[in-house]
Amino acid sequence: MVFLSFDDGPEPVFTPLALAALKRYNSQAVWFILGKQAELYPDLLPQIYQGGHDIGVHSYDHISLTTLPQLQIVQQLERTKMLIQKATGQFWPYFRPPNGAYNNKVLQAAASAGFQWNVMWSVDPRDYRSTPEQIIDHVLMNLRPGAIVILHEVSSSTTQALPIILQEINKRGYRTRSLSQYLTFSDHD
Ligand SMILES: [Zn+2]
Repeated sequence: MVFLSFDDGPEPVFTPLALAALKRYNSQAVWFILGKQAELYPDLLPQIYQGGHDIGVHSYDHISLTTLPQLQIVQQLERTKMLIQKATGQFWPYFRPPNGAYNNKVLQAAASAGFQWNVMWSVDPRDYRSTPEQIIDHVLMNLRPGAIVILHEVSSSTTQALPIILQEINKRGYRTRSLSQYLTFSDHD
């Protein structure tokens, strides 16, 4: 099993294309969304949910949470969580801090907002500044059981690379799954 994650969406072009590619290859993923994007494009959240994917929280506006006082960290997460709940009726207890920046204050704030998992990553193709070929090569060279791949919804390179990555993942006998499918105690199951 391997895990694909999509950060910084939802986004009106890239999210539907990612959803279509995942569906075509019978794959699941986890989104770590921004609240401000969810406010702009609330209809995309039910589409992600209906595809069998998880929707975790990144933050409201992608500020590095370590720079904020605890109350504002909680507000960033709660505000985004409410948008997800309003759009899907669901809550996924998964959190990924913007820029991977966290400390005890951030983890305590996340726990107090109900997030049980701080989900980092093990494979980073830096897709926001790479060609499709570079993304494909980096992901496939670093694929291991349990790998968590970080991708972003800001780049057409990612959109072009994704179908090829999914095809090769399946060919190698891996399956891409949501975190909820892996973590059996999740509410989402
Ligand atoms: Zn991000």
